[in-house]
Amino acid sequence: MTSLAHNQPMTPNFEALRAEFPSLQQEVNGKPLVYLDNGASTQKPQAVIDAIAHYYTHDNSNVHRGVHTLSQRATDQFENARKKVQGFLNAREDAEIIFTSGTTESINLVAHSFVHAFCEAGDEVVITAMEHHSNIVPWQLLEQQIGIKLVVAPINKKGEVVFDDFKASLSERTKLVAVTQLSNALGTITPLKEMTEAAHAIGAKVLVDGAQAVAHLSVDVQALDVDFYAFSGHKIFAPTGVGVLYGKRELLDAMPPYKAGGDMIKVVSFSGTTFNDLPHKFEAGTPNIAGVIGLAAGIDYVQAIGLNNIAAYEHDLLNYATNQLEKIDGLNMIGTAAKKSSILSFQIEGVHASDLGTLLDHQGVAIRVGHHCAMPVMEFFGVDATARASLAFYNNQADIDTLVAALNKALNILR
Ligand SMILES: *Cc1c(COP(=O)(O)O)cnc(C)c1O
Repeated sequence: MTSLAHNQPMTPNFEALRAEFPSLQQEVNGKPLVYLDNGASTQKPQAVIDAIAHYYTHDNSNVHRGVHTLSQRATDQFENARKKVQGFLNAREDAEIIFTSGTTESINLVAHSFVHAFCEAGDEVVITAMEHHSNIVPWQLLEQQIGIKLVVAPINKKGEVVFDDFKASLSERTKLVAVTQLSNALGTITPLKEMTEAAHAIGAKVLVDGAQAVAHLSVDVQALDVDFYAFSGHKIFAPTGVGVLYGKRELLDAMPPYKAGGDMIKVVSFSGTTFNDLPHKFEAGTPNIAGVIGLAAGIDYVQAIGLNNIAAYEHDLLNYATNQLEKIDGLNMIGTAAKKSSILSFQIEGVHASDLGTLLDHQGVAIRVGHHCAMPVMEFFGVDATARASLAFYNNQADIDTLVAALNKALNILR
């Protein structure tokens, strides 16, 4: 890392890091931008933008195909990115890292290749009541297509998994537990290790939706012992259109390909086709090469800061924000789990979340309003929508103060 901000990894200078994000240095509606929609997508540091521009400026070519220099450079960077992700998740080997277009595709890959191939009518997939739609709807399609049963482990009023209820949701028919590590709607951190132990004890596999977690918590797939782990580049300061599926080799080896085309085969003939080895078996077609290179730069960036440093900083900022927001008259925090990260989802009595979102935008404050792709969560809490402020390490107390002032101003207009 060349940037000054990274010189003291033990105590990162978060203000200096913020200066490395060009898109944060702008005014919106005549006010300095306060970006609090990181749960939907994060901004990109100059280092990531530069990595993508460098690839297109110097090395643009297809991967795994050419003997020529540009293709070899592109392939080297692509495969080095795989090693980077392997290290980031602490996977055993780089072949266990499959590049996809994002969390949604990673979950659909498991739904098709694992469940479609190895589960039959009556087998069960267990999720929790706080999942994102992308970890609900693929299983509902399988209910229709092959007759699996989707079982939903309940949550309590704080938005936590109740471990005994979760255990009671498991049965001898459970083949897969698919669970978020960090809820995008509530901020809840789930007890993954305990849930994984309970799932393995009855012979089920575990898929983790890590879309929201990877930018906030340090992840070790071997320590957690999860079987699959999915995440998206764009929520960890990297581009859209790229994501990862980690899977244990013995499972990926046993699973059939899910997309078919170039690069995923060894030999093709009309009498039969042999599939390629991992990871290429699951990567048909030309991948998002620039996206993968950008993802590696994003991972370099957060690793230079240190995820434990990020988690500690964001923990304090979340506490500060929670205290400040709770001073607002009529504000109900949705999601008050004991273990939480980065998400402040709330509803204000008598006020529509969408009106709040619009009035905040007029003041340069970007938050998300709506159901956050988690309509069952909204139903459980008896609201149709919440306002959600979601943090990244480049946010600070001044951002929270601006948010609170903007909310109070909006409430004066709306009430
Ligand atoms: C954003 C998100 C997803 C979907 O990610 P995509 O990048 O849209 O594929 C899934 N789960 C959670 C918890 C998310 O926050």
